[in-house]
Amino acid sequence: MTTPLSKLSPANIAIAQSSQQNISISLVIGKSQHAIKKSFIHSNTENAMRGLKEKKNSHSNECQTWLDAKLSERADKLTELRNERKEAILKRLDQIGWRAEAEMMIKDYRGDIFTSHKLVSQSRKLTDYGWNCMEAELVQMLSEYQAQRLIRQRAEALESRYRLFFGLRLQIESETDLRDPFPAAGDILTDPRIEALIWDTPFDETLDDSLCRSKLLGYLPMIINEWRHGKVQEVLEILRQSRARATGSDLHLATSASSHAHLGSQTSSRSDERFEVYFPFWFTKRPLGVWMSSTLVCNDSASQVIKEIVEACNLDPETTTVRDLHLANPLIECVSCVHNIHSGRHFMSWPYLAIQHMGHPFQVNSFGAETAQMIAREVPNRDRHAVCCSHCHKTFGPGLSLFSHLKDNHGDVVGIDTLPALGDLLEIREHWYCNPRAVEPGLYKPFLYKA
Ligand SMILES: [Zn+2]
Ligand SMILES: [Zn+2]
Repeated sequence: MTTPLSKLSPANIAIAQSSQQNISISLVIGKSQHAIKKSFIHSNTENAMRGLKEKKNSHSNECQTWLDAKLSERADKLTELRNERKEAILKRLDQIGWRAEAEMMIKDYRGDIFTSHKLVSQSRKLTDYGWNCMEAELVQMLSEYQAQRLIRQRAEALESRYRLFFGLRLQIESETDLRDPFPAAGDILTDPRIEALIWDTPFDETLDDSLCRSKLLGYLPMIINEWRHGKVQEVLEILRQSRARATGSDLHLATSASSHAHLGSQTSSRSDERFEVYFPFWFTKRPLGVWMSSTLVCNDSASQVIKEIVEACNLDPETTTVRDLHLANPLIECVSCVHNIHSGRHFMSWPYLAIQHMGHPFQVNSFGAETAQMIAREVPNRDRHAVCCSHCHKTFGPGLSLFSHLKDNHGDVVGIDTLPALGDLLEIREHWYCNPRAVEPGLYKPFLYKA
């Protein structure tokens, strides 16, 4: 039976107070006095033990804090002494001209091996005797470091300068009319005038981009003239093996466009240091090479095929240029490449016939009433650099982007109203030309036609 709370005597209520000052009340109902006393003593003993433990912990923490402070103080003192010694050594190095090198060593991004050197990283005060004992060893270390640093600095400067001029040449090429031959990267980067800029500027100087661009632009007309004159002569010599009376203007003829030169190296022509440093750049990256005619040959069969195409367009092979033939854009079918009735007939623009279907029988512009349907299947090639704007020489794919470029940038020259809405390139032929550096030849992809 439960006794109401109001009828309990004070002895039946034990109050225990914890060390955290939290008060808990336990109501002991119906216990004997002995049990209450025992519980009271036990509770007091527990409190006393807890108190002792806390005092001990607190004392231990204080000791640890004191010890940490002392150790930190000692470490600070040692660091201070080492810093004083390092500064004293730097002052001595200053007197003999080696301080700047030591400071470069300290700031080296790969790690400061000066400060951690066994002769420097000491807490002992530097004395005259100590300095005299270490001077030779420190100077030896610094001079070795300097020699390595200069080699590294020179190599890094050369690489970044070649990259800079390569980028500048690329930038200038993209703004240049490429209907006339433009030197390859190697032809410009190994020109003595450009080499002088790259090699004769102290290697601890950084070349300024805009200054280098203006210098390159200043030298380019001379470089191009000399280069072009030499290369045209080389190519003419090759062309004259087939056409004895060929002149410079013959190089633009469609019937001469059947050969390819390549970028290569000229290991035998130069063996000086400047050339040998540049050589690995283009050895691994062909676009950095020099333009060479050594593998250029006249392909008489291809020339004959193009002559037939030109004549089928009612044009004169003696005067028709590559550009004329691109503009004529004859419709050509390779008759031998009909695989089966389902795949359709093979049509292509003229460069593809000369490159990929050499020796195959073909037909040109002779497809009667179906011609319009066939032309409707023509698809511009995917090369985003297939054509160049005649006004600023920017490159475009043979699609709408050229038209919007002309409208947006050369509207005053082109006559904005005359532009077709969904353009036909042939209608605005004076405002573009085929990019001689394009990867995909011609304006249109080969296509299959099935009636
Ligand atoms: Zn074929
Ligand atoms: Zn333009």
